[in-house]
Amino acid sequence: MRLLPVFDGHNDTLLDLYAPEEGEGRSFLEGSDKGHVDLPRAREGGLVGGIFAIFTPPPEGSPERDLHYGLTITEHGYTLQPRSAVDHDYAREFTDGAFDFVDRLEVGAGGEIAVVRTYRDLERYLREGVLSLVLHLEGAAAIKEDLSDLGRYYDRGLRSLGLVWSRPNVFGSGVPFRFPHSPDTGPGLTEAGKMLVGECNRLGILIDLAHINEKGFWDVARLSDAPLVVSHAGVHAICPSSRNLTDEQLDAIGDSDGLLGVIFAATMTRPDGDREKDIPITGIVDHIHYVAQRIGVDHVALGSDFDGAVMSQELRDVAALPRLIQALRDRGYDDQSLEQIAYRNWFRVLKDTWKE
Ligand SMILES: [Zn+2]
Repeated sequence: MRLLPVFDGHNDTLLDLYAPEEGEGRSFLEGSDKGHVDLPRAREGGLVGGIFAIFTPPPEGSPERDLHYGLTITEHGYTLQPRSAVDHDYAREFTDGAFDFVDRLEVGAGGEIAVVRTYRDLERYLREGVLSLVLHLEGAAAIKEDLSDLGRYYDRGLRSLGLVWSRPNVFGSGVPFRFPHSPDTGPGLTEAGKMLVGECNRLGILIDLAHINEKGFWDVARLSDAPLVVSHAGVHAICPSSRNLTDEQLDAIGDSDGLLGVIFAATMTRPDGDREKDIPITGIVDHIHYVAQRIGVDHVALGSDFDGAVMSQELRDVAALPRLIQALRDRGYDDQSLEQIAYRNWFRVLKDTWKE
């Protein structure tokens, strides 16, 4: 059977390669069984491209580097202590180093992978079989409050920006990880955050609303002239995590001709939010199906969070993507709908946002 091309809306593979938590890291080009994404496994799974995040971790020695930091188990779920902002200079230094790493990775790949700068690039790389990397900052901590360096990052290839991760910065506030909980956890965008939305629109940088709190989401919905996009999250009506989208948010995404990239992580998809248990592929299909039913198959796509979260056992790495496509087919999706979910919706939204 022909391998369906897949464009994935979010992975943390660059962080895993550039600043591995443990061990000696791994090679993206040669592949291994470590982590979730590398070139050989991407080819095996049909991955043609994705949004590759650059995320600034809490500084070395900070207790917040522990994923379970401040975890309290509650009667029906859990709550994690809110994360603190990271220092701007530290974030900038880390981020610049990550961009340097991507430059070396791209040169070393001898044309097998490439950083995408325009929609034309994306189409061409699809035709030529080059793996497309859309560079993304997960949280704008490295950007100066006066936005004077946004153009520099754009020139280095930045085409997607998450205004916040699940912590505050000078532009806005992300949601703390809580279950069950509303995404309405704090204040909306600052004045600088509102300026940043305008600059992203002007330059043609995708604004990613993953991790932002509900007030920030509505601020962007009001201010931005681009489609509303959440790269990796789930449906709040199925899994009431603070990170997931309410029906009203989904409706706004549909109305803007945007999309939600459905995440593959168990904590964000299981109806009971159990942090210890797995999610079957059909559980992930439930989220995709809900979005398609509510706002249309034009507005749902994939946003795995490979290399950034604990995956469903049945989708343990990028090579397993055809199993998800098959599960969608089993749910009744035809070839055309599968192509939309797998890559065409992402392509449309990137084209509409980048404008070239
Ligand atoms: Zn994330």
